[in-house]
Amino acid sequence: MVETVSARRNLYPASPLHLVWVVPLCTLGLGALVRTAAGEPVSLAFVLGGGGIGVLAGSTGAWIAGRIKESLKKELRTRSRELKSSRDFLEKLIESFPGVVIIVDGGGEVIYASPAVGELLRIDREELVGRSAGLIFSGGVTEFETIVRRVEERGGVVHDLSSEVLPAGRGATPVEVSARLLTDLGQGQEGTLLVLRDISERLLREKREVDGERLRILGECVAGVAHELNNPLTGVIGYLQLAGEERLSRTLEDTLGKAGKEASRMAQTIRTLLGFVRQRKPERVPTDLNALVEQVCEFLDHQLAVNDIALTLEMTDLPRAMVDPNLLRQVMLNLVKNAQDAIRESGVGSSITVRTGRIGETFLIEVIDDGPGVPTEIADRVFEQFFTTKPSGRGTGLGLAISRKILEDHGGELLLTHGEKCGAGFVLRLPVPEEELIAEREAAVPPRPVGLDILVIDDEKGVREYLALVLESEGHCVRIGANGRQGLDLFEERVPDLVFLDMKMPDLPGCTCRERMIASRPSMAGRIVMMSGDRIAENGEELFLGKPMSPDEILDQAARAMLVHVT
Ligand code: ADP
Repeated sequence: MVETVSARRNLYPASPLHLVWVVPLCTLGLGALVRTAAGEPVSLAFVLGGGGIGVLAGSTGAWIAGRIKESLKKELRTRSRELKSSRDFLEKLIESFPGVVIIVDGGGEVIYASPAVGELLRIDREELVGRSAGLIFSGGVTEFETIVRRVEERGGVVHDLSSEVLPAGRGATPVEVSARLLTDLGQGQEGTLLVLRDISERLLREKREVDGERLRILGECVAGVAHELNNPLTGVIGYLQLAGEERLSRTLEDTLGKAGKEASRMAQTIRTLLGFVRQRKPERVPTDLNALVEQVCEFLDHQLAVNDIALTLEMTDLPRAMVDPNLLRQVMLNLVKNAQDAIRESGVGSSITVRTGRIGETFLIEVIDDGPGVPTEIADRVFEQFFTTKPSGRGTGLGLAISRKILEDHGGELLLTHGEKCGAGFVLRLPVPEEELIAEREAAVPPRPVGLDILVIDDEKGVREYLALVLESEGHCVRIGANGRQGLDLFEERVPDLVFLDMKMPDLPGCTCRERMIASRPSMAGRIVMMSGDRIAENGEELFLGKPMSPDEILDQAARAMLVHVT
C-alpha cells in the first residue's frame, strides 16, 4: 500500500504552483521561436498576449494539479487508516488467541511471539524474538526439530502434540503444541507457526478426576467393607470370649483356630481393599479367574441385596490366567457396579449375571444385566474418558475408560456386547497364557479307539492276562501269545490292528519279533507298542510302555499308536 502511494507521487514531482511560471514561460518561448523562425519581430503585444494566455493556462493547470494532489492525500490518509485498523484487528486477534503464537524462521530463530508468551514462558516477547526456538522447549533444539519433522511428515500441519516448555525460573510446564509449516515468509523464506497451550491445569484436573473416581468407588464400597469386616469380627470376638470364659463345648485349640480363620478372612478383605486403593504398576501373576470373580461378587453381595438385585454366577473351570488380580478386580467391581447403578437409577430390571468361559485361546468374563441397556446413540461413547450419563457427583465417566485400558495392558479387550433391548452386556477377553497352551498341546491325548483287534505277546502270564483284561474291558478283541514264536504265528494267522510286545522274551527278543512283523506287513510299523520293566530300554522307542503300567497308561498308549497310524 505504502509503495503504491509513493509511486503515484513520483508521477507528479512538482508542486502545482510551479505551473504558474513554467506554463507562461514555455508558451512565450514557443511563440518567440515560431516568430523568429518566420522572420517576424517579436512585438510587445505578442509578448503580452502570449504571456496572458500562458498565465491563464498555467493557473488552470496549477488548480487541476492542486485538486489531484489533494485527492491523493485524502486517499493516502484513508488507506493508512484502513491499514492500521486491519493491523490492530490482527494483533488483537492474535493477542486474544487462547494460546501462545510463535513464528520461527527457516533457521530456527523466533521472528514473532504473541504477548501471551510472557505469561507462559515468563519472558518479554521482544526478548524472545531473535533467539533460537530450541530455548523454548525442555528438550531443547532436538525437540523443536522433532516437531518440525512431524509437521513435514504429516503434510504441513500437526495438532496437539505433547511437549514441555521451560519458563524462566520455573520447572518444566506441559504444553500442547499445534504447528503449521509457513511456505512464504517473504523473499521465498519458509518457517513454522507454533501455537502452544499450557495444559498443566487440565492435567491436574484430570488427575483429580481420576483420584475422585477412585475415592467415589471406594466410598461406595465402605458399606460393603463394613459388612464384610463385621461378620468375621463377630466370629473373632465371639470365639475369643468363649475361650476366655471357659464355656467351651469344643477344645480351646479348635475355638482359637476358628477365631484365627475369621481374622484371616478380615485380613483378606483388607488386602483386597488396599490393592484397590493403591496405585501400582501391573504385576501379573497366575490367577484363578473364577475365584477372583467370586471374591468381587461376594464383596458387592450386600449392596446388591439391599438394592433387591439378584446376582447369578455361571462359572466354567478355567486354567490360571496371567493377570494383575488387583487391577482385574477393579474392572469387575466397576462393571458390576455400573450394572447395579443402571438398574437402580432406571427402575428397570432386577438381575445381573456374571459368566466365565473360554473360547480357544481366549478367556471370557461376561457381566450381563437386564437393566435399561446402553442406548445405541451413546454405545460408541461409553468408553470415552469423562463420558457419563450419571448425575454430577455420581459419575465421572472414567470407570469404563480405565477398565478398557487395564484390559489392553493385559493384551485383552473390553467390549460392549448387548444392545438396548436386552439390557447391557460387557465382555472381558483375556489371552490364555502361552505356557498353558503349550502344556495343553503336549498333554493332549487322542480319543480312545474302540473295537480293535489286539495281539498281546509276553512271556509273563500275569502281565499278559492283566493287559488282556484292561483292553477287553474297553471293548477290544484280544489274542494272547505266551512267547515270541507263538506271537508270530498268531500274527501271521490274522494281522492285528495293534500289538503289545514284550522286549525281553527267552525264545525270541521283542525287537526280532517286531522286525519280522514289519518285514511281513510294513503297515505295522508304528502299531507295535514295546513293553519292558527296564526303563533304559525305552531309549529311542516311539511307542513304549514301562512296567508296571496302569490301565490308563495302557489305553492311552493304544490310542497314541492308532493316532500315529492314522496320521
Ligand atoms: P460412570 O460410571 O462414572 O458414568 P463409566 O465409564 O463407568 O463412568 O460409564 C460410562 C457410562 O456408560 C455410564 O454413565 C452409563 O451411561 C453407561 N453404562 C455403563 N454401564 C452401563 C450399564 N450396565 N447399563 C447402562 N449403561 C451403562
